[in-house]
Amino acid sequence: MQRRHLVLLALGTAGGLPLRAAALGATALPDALAVPGGVALVDLGPAPTRPTARLGDRPVMVLPHAERAGDWVAVVGISLAADPRGRQVLAVHGDGGRVRELKFALGPKAYAEQRLTVAPKHVELSPADLARHERERVHLGQVLQRFNRAREPATLRLLVPTPGPRSSSFGLRRVFNGQSRNPHSGMDIAAPTGTPVVSAAAGEVLDTGDYFFNGHTVIVDHGMGLLTLYCHLSAVDAAPGAVLEAGTPIGKVGATGRVTGAHLHFSVYLNAAPVDPALFLPAA
Ligand SMILES: [Zn+2]
Repeated sequence: MQRRHLVLLALGTAGGLPLRAAALGATALPDALAVPGGVALVDLGPAPTRPTARLGDRPVMVLPHAERAGDWVAVVGISLAADPRGRQVLAVHGDGGRVRELKFALGPKAYAEQRLTVAPKHVELSPADLARHERERVHLGQVLQRFNRAREPATLRLLVPTPGPRSSSFGLRRVFNGQSRNPHSGMDIAAPTGTPVVSAAAGEVLDTGDYFFNGHTVIVDHGMGLLTLYCHLSAVDAAPGAVLEAGTPIGKVGATGRVTGAHLHFSVYLNAAPVDPALFLPAA
């Protein structure tokens, strides 16, 4: 392993060309954007074995550095709620129980805000719906904390899960009748009901369900805290535990859950934080 990396390193630096991680077999990384809702790539330096790292109480993904053999990089999802005025603190656990703190700064990011005034019946849930939503919120919160060390993502460059125009509404803050809602945690892709939806990368189906807000939903675990979520499906063609290749059909676009029209809601989670899917997808 060590020797192969050294050979690749020599190839990559010959002629002074930047190393193409994908071409050399290292895991291709998403675009780095250290802002709330973005992805920070934090250099952990050299270590004889893969260190573990945590941000707060969450484990984060650690991968071999693409360009420097023996070095490691943490791929950190930044919560939309993170305060860019404070430094983020990564706790890195190395050999022999050694723990060090690595601090990194965030840049600011202004997400749009949408203020809507609607009839109360459109935003206030019945006691039964509220109870259902609360159960589902707890369940999904647990599912999305999954951190599977046994699976290392083959790539963090994702496939577009369904063809169609993509919204840039990730992070949009919505205020209904003066009350703040959770910011929009994904990307909406407009497509007619029945359009096939495929897994954005290789992985394992972690959860499926019919949820109050999300409708028919599939969640795929790609390993080390990288999950993708597909919502409002008209049909689900995947069962929990199924192992998928990148591009395997998992369902069809629909308008289930609380939506006004057919589209795919697509979210990407890293260390339980929803991050901007556009950082992982080819340019539209
Ligand atoms: Zn959406």
